Amino acid sequence: MDRFAFPHAPLRAGPQPLSPNRRQLLQWASLGLLAAAPWQARAAGDERIWPKDSRVPGGVACLSLGPAAQRPQVLAGDVPVLVVGDMIEWTALIGIPLSTPPGTHSVQVQADSKARTLSYQVQNKQYAEQRLKVAPKTVDLAPDDQARYEREHAHQQGIMARFSTPLPEGTLRMQQPVPGRRSSSFGLRRVFNGQARNPHSGMDIAAATGTPVAAPLPGTVVDVGDYFFNGGTVWLDHGGGLLSMYCHLSRMDCQVGDVLRTGDRFCKVGATGRVTGPHLHWGVLLNRSMVDPALFLG
Ligand code: ZN
Repeated sequence: MDRFAFPHAPLRAGPQPLSPNRRQLLQWASLGLLAAAPWQARAAGDERIWPKDSRVPGGVACLSLGPAAQRPQVLAGDVPVLVVGDMIEWTALIGIPLSTPPGTHSVQVQADSKARTLSYQVQNKQYAEQRLKVAPKTVDLAPDDQARYEREHAHQQGIMARFSTPLPEGTLRMQQPVPGRRSSSFGLRRVFNGQARNPHSGMDIAAATGTPVAAPLPGTVVDVGDYFFNGGTVWLDHGGGLLSMYCHLSRMDCQVGDVLRTGDRFCKVGATGRVTGPHLHWGVLLNRSMVDPALFLG
């Protein structure tokens, strides 16, 4: 790509002609003349196009990286992080795992051949507890079911490790995949039939069986399956370690490899897997961390 071109015009909300001012900034950036960037705060925190910055377990840290001629590379441990923006302002979008302890965390940044460590604070967030009654055989697993779950878990880990190109372009603000009441149950510490289990790592949206589910962003179908806990499930890959999952489906009207545009319908709400009734379980994954989908909704 021509480094003097303006590679990500659609990232700014709506088509905008390049103003003379901006053109000048781009020239300065390309010549390395920009020391400080007064517009950084606005760009890194621009909630019209990026997810909402929320530095808590299960949140997303939107960290300003400043200008650089080439897209910086960022690693959280050994996991690549999605970097968005353009040469006058790059932003790292870091998914924070629900298991993250509060305190100082850091990522490694490589920008224009210079390496540095960038730190950020994760605040404490106490999620509420949810007690659910479900079929006993979905809590105390029979040996066959346990073996099936372990196979499916390993398969899912492979999907979650994807970091594909092209990186997502344009806004990362998502369209709600089905209309309906959104539970605020992300992160709930769950107790099934009196036994503590993994926290709830997605958003539940109340909808009747058969309600069509629409892609919240452009993406590619990378997995279609019927799993022990999640029931009928589809994963979409939006690029750059940003994926989304749809569970408990009654129908999967798609195949691995299908390319979807925002709003394309690809599956239907159901009540398959471990559920108490029909709804869509919607998960959003960023650098292998399930994060709160609400942070991506407009
Ligand atoms: Zn759920």
